[in-house]
Amino acid sequence: MILDLFRLNGKVAVITGANTGLGQGFCVAFAEAGATVIGIARRSCAETAAKVEAVGGTFFEVLTDLSAPDASKTVANACKKLTGRVDILVNNAGIIHREDAVNVTEASWDLVTNLNEKLVFFLSQAMTNEFFIPQGGGKIINIASMLSFQGGIRVPSYTASKSAVMGLTKALANEWASLNINVNAIAPGYMATNNTTALRQDSDRNDAILCRIPAGRWGTSNDLMGAAVFLASDASSYVNGFTLAVDGGWLAR
Ligand code: NAP
Repeated sequence: MILDLFRLNGKVAVITGANTGLGQGFCVAFAEAGATVIGIARRSCAETAAKVEAVGGTFFEVLTDLSAPDASKTVANACKKLTGRVDILVNNAGIIHREDAVNVTEASWDLVTNLNEKLVFFLSQAMTNEFFIPQGGGKIINIASMLSFQGGIRVPSYTASKSAVMGLTKALANEWASLNINVNAIAPGYMATNNTTALRQDSDRNDAILCRIPAGRWGTSNDLMGAAVFLASDASSYVNGFTLAVDGGWLAR
């Protein structure tokens, strides 16, 4: 009985940044839980499609640059044509620019914050207007960060954007909880993906990070699957505006 609450059969999940990393893991997790998956990416999602199909799922790909103007409308229109409904949105696509604060340019700042912060708001708004309100509910999962809680080192635009993601998660939950729309976030700890290649290749930073993680290892996309399915499912119907850290204990220290 209780496990039935976690099932996503008949649901359609949209995941941005679906071609690799954490986004790819979310696609596989939702497919395993029974959802049809629409992956949004600027590069081929062939690898993700193969993984989803290997677990018996259905995968559609929408190729678009999410930094382009009106990207949220492009995505909503594509979903309308593909499935005609969306139940779950994961705002996962994100970028990080590592540079000293004194050197950050306005162009770099805008690139990071437009994707990591502005698109999160406008894609959530588009999905809510187009699908969640007419359908009577929906689930939004934003991908936050340890830097929603902390300052980080040499990543000021990323920290600003991920802190905004945690704030937006609360702000949108306040407006939309009564519409049966759950807005929550997952804050991954330090995960082994393209996003952290530079950190893992810097042996000093790698050692410093590993020493501080109580679990003693980098996380993987598999570590986020349970939290994602929970927040996408009826099991979390009364969870609103919360950012769930999945971090091997990083924030506990
Ligand atoms: P990743 O492997 O670099 O994945 C980022 C995804 O975003 C990729 O699919 C990337 O596509 C996509 N993307 C970037 N710019 C885009 C654009 N303009 N249009 C369309 N797609 C775009 O890193 P990840 O670790 O899986 O990151 C996923 C999310 O988790 C991000 O929001 C990140 O900030 C967050 N996060 C990661 C960690 C970590 O330790 N890895 C920790 C906390 C939070 P391309 O492959 O084409 O670049």
